[in-house]
Amino acid sequence: MTKPRYRMAPSPTGALHIGNARTALYNYLLARRTGGTYVLRIEDTARDRSRPEFEQTIFEGFRWLGIEWDEGPGIGGDYGPYRQSERVDLHREWLGKLIDRGWVYRCFCTPEELADARKRAQAEKRPPKYSGKCRNLSEAETQQRLDAGETAAYRFRVEPRIVEYRDLVLGDVREDAGLWGDFVICRSNWLPVYNFAVVIDDHTMEITDAVRGADHISNTFRQIVMYDALEIPPPRFGHLPLILNRKKQKISKRDGAVSVEEYMTQGYLPEAVRNFIVLLGWNPGDEREMFSLEELVDEYSLDRVSSANPIYDIDKLDWFNGVYMRGMAVGELAGRARPFVKAAGLNIDSSGNGYFEQAVALEQERVKKLTDFGDALAFFFQEQVDPDMKFLVRKRGTAEETASALQKVLGLVREYGVDDVGVSESYLRGLASELGWKAGELFMPIRVAITGSRATPPLFETMQVLGDERVISRLNRAIALLRGVPSVAS
Ligand code: GLU
Repeated sequence: MTKPRYRMAPSPTGALHIGNARTALYNYLLARRTGGTYVLRIEDTARDRSRPEFEQTIFEGFRWLGIEWDEGPGIGGDYGPYRQSERVDLHREWLGKLIDRGWVYRCFCTPEELADARKRAQAEKRPPKYSGKCRNLSEAETQQRLDAGETAAYRFRVEPRIVEYRDLVLGDVREDAGLWGDFVICRSNWLPVYNFAVVIDDHTMEITDAVRGADHISNTFRQIVMYDALEIPPPRFGHLPLILNRKKQKISKRDGAVSVEEYMTQGYLPEAVRNFIVLLGWNPGDEREMFSLEELVDEYSLDRVSSANPIYDIDKLDWFNGVYMRGMAVGELAGRARPFVKAAGLNIDSSGNGYFEQAVALEQERVKKLTDFGDALAFFFQEQVDPDMKFLVRKRGTAEETASALQKVLGLVREYGVDDVGVSESYLRGLASELGWKAGELFMPIRVAITGSRATPPLFETMQVLGDERVISRLNRAIALLRGVPSVAS
């Protein structure tokens, strides 16, 4: 059996949408699982909308997700070029074959005429089907009009028939070609339209399996009639049900991030995004939800892709992200968090050995996304924190009473330090009982004094990471604030 050749054929007309990322991932997994080849082809036939910067965004998005291609832009291969716009000579050659076989005629209808006809059809509630006005022009008349300088598109002659094939995901499907009308496959300026170019490219690149979004089904039927007209075998086709939101509509920005670029900048981990995406339509047949790329390569198959539309739930992505972040080695997580924390303006480079990693370790259980580290770690890196006065004073107590308790804390910290979590806990608990306070009544002012806020990682661990010097300086400042005197230097 020949080795399968899968492909991903994105159009560089915008961001890398989650639907396309899913298609790319599925094709990649199929190629890896079958020992086949994964081809990346850029479909830039829509010249006015295609942009090199979108190509870059797509490449970066795939690489970020760990989806590497075997042939394609930047890598080359035996079936290049891998940009559709660089293959037009080939498209023309094959157009010539269709013309020779009588499948294509020149159509002189202007865009205005066609738009009028569409409007009329709409008003009369008929399908907008081409009237066939130019279908039977004689060769002589066609030539005469071309010689006179009229422009003319190339239209494919559709014969009434039922088109059917077995879809790898949807099973047996069929459509009545009698409903379509003849369609344009090449513009008057010789530029092929997507539907024709894709047939020639898939054929000449020896693609065996074309797996893509279900929005392409109507194209697939048209492509099949072109394969038949050229007497070349079509690839196997598989169509992935579209991802919908909870209201069963097409997903949009309102449903949360929808492009890979947004996932990157919003602090999601690629492994979480990949895990989230793969389950949008595929399931392993049991309750498991966490999959590494290697496990997916072992397990993935189109048999387990559901024909129902998967529902997009960004909360699930947040959940995956949290799980992956919590399971990650601290050093690794700190490395991933670093650029986000810097972008948030935290000066992490001047802090001592391992300080940043220790701070990350303390927050690891609490953050959901890499972007959360900016806020969560801020107090570790500020020169001074601004304690929230509302919570700095002990409940139902006075400012002076809290100040004098913190003064005692300061003395203990000076004496015993904050290095040993067990020791800190025991002297602070001891102090609380000496004061006749509940432990929490003492811990809260300390927490607010050294971090600025109430919601922080566990107190003794936080003190340990901050170290004696910072703890002492912050306690001093809090005491000064409570007593209404200007802050003293520590
Ligand atoms: N270029 C098409 C798109 O971006 C994909 C076509 C295909 O996979 O055949 O939607």
